[in-house]
Amino acid sequence: MTRFISPRLEGLSPYVPGEQPRDRSYVKLNTNENPFPPPPAVVEAARREGERLNLYSDPDCLYLRESLARYEGLEPENVLVTNGSDEALSFIFFAFKGGFIFPNHTYGFYKVFAELYGAPYEEAPLKPDFTVDVDAFIESGKNAVIANPNAPTGLFLPLPEIESILDANAERLVIVDEAYVDFGGESAASLIKKYDNLIVTRTFSKSRSLAGMRLGYIMASKELIADLNAVRCSINPYNVDRVALAAGTASLECEEYFRKNLETVIGNRQYTAERLTALGFTVIPSCANFLFAKRDGLSGEELYLSLKKRGVLVRHFKKSGIEDYVRISIGTMEDMDILLSRLEEIIV
Ligand SMILES: *Cc1c(COP(=O)(O)O)cnc(C)c1O
Repeated sequence: MTRFISPRLEGLSPYVPGEQPRDRSYVKLNTNENPFPPPPAVVEAARREGERLNLYSDPDCLYLRESLARYEGLEPENVLVTNGSDEALSFIFFAFKGGFIFPNHTYGFYKVFAELYGAPYEEAPLKPDFTVDVDAFIESGKNAVIANPNAPTGLFLPLPEIESILDANAERLVIVDEAYVDFGGESAASLIKKYDNLIVTRTFSKSRSLAGMRLGYIMASKELIADLNAVRCSINPYNVDRVALAAGTASLECEEYFRKNLETVIGNRQYTAERLTALGFTVIPSCANFLFAKRDGLSGEELYLSLKKRGVLVRHFKKSGIEDYVRISIGTMEDMDILLSRLEEIIV
């Protein structure tokens, strides 16, 4: 860093996204993207909106907020639209007092945001079976951040457990990051009317095949949304561009395509989990669009490197406690068959 950097940012360690190499073509199973393109109506809506890019986007994101509110059974005032759900999380970590607690193995961005904004934080160890230690969250007195389903494990924490944290910490927030909820979890959005300390974040990146669009949203009480909206408008009132707004609105109207896409991904996940198990892997039961798996006698890093050499990218985390595992995004059936045949070569 240069001598010009703010002392606040000394020692900043940014989030490291999964690699996007250009050296050759890979079967890309490392960043949990949807393997299928968005539906044609979404592509067409984005193309049409492109003709109006000379004009600023709607700073209130009104149409999309209305559509989302209808879709989720809430009011538009319960919804805030963001430039990917990473931006949603950024606003949340920036806005609220009291520090944060999240699991020691979870989405890496939580820690990055806490450090960036100087918020105190605590990492609660997952239990040996990788489930969330709910008691640690109940006892911490900090705002709880829980990816549900969690990444990189794929495990889902049932809503009654989320409710027990909400009940125990009425003076603190519970933030549920539902990036993967469409692939098998149950949404906490139904609890928003009951709890004024609940925040739910969602993304169009995974289940709606729009990772390249950067679109996410927050659901919470009207008062919490107003707080977050004040933050948003103090940073970038045009945080979501026209094309993203149009694509998002169109996406919500493609329910049949969406359901079929989810069914396919879930089917491919099931197939892959069974085949991996047959190959001697331990596979954590996943409610997301990825599998977390390990095999005795092979380190996670060895698995990652030998797959990469054979043209298949998966994600490996060099972190004590999960270093034996790799996280495998669910791709097309063809992708999964390539992965499995490469693994057969590796483990003979
Ligand atoms: C992918 C992901 C996000 C971020 O999604 P974007 O909307 O693409 O910014 C947030 N949380 C978790 C747990 C994720 O895996």
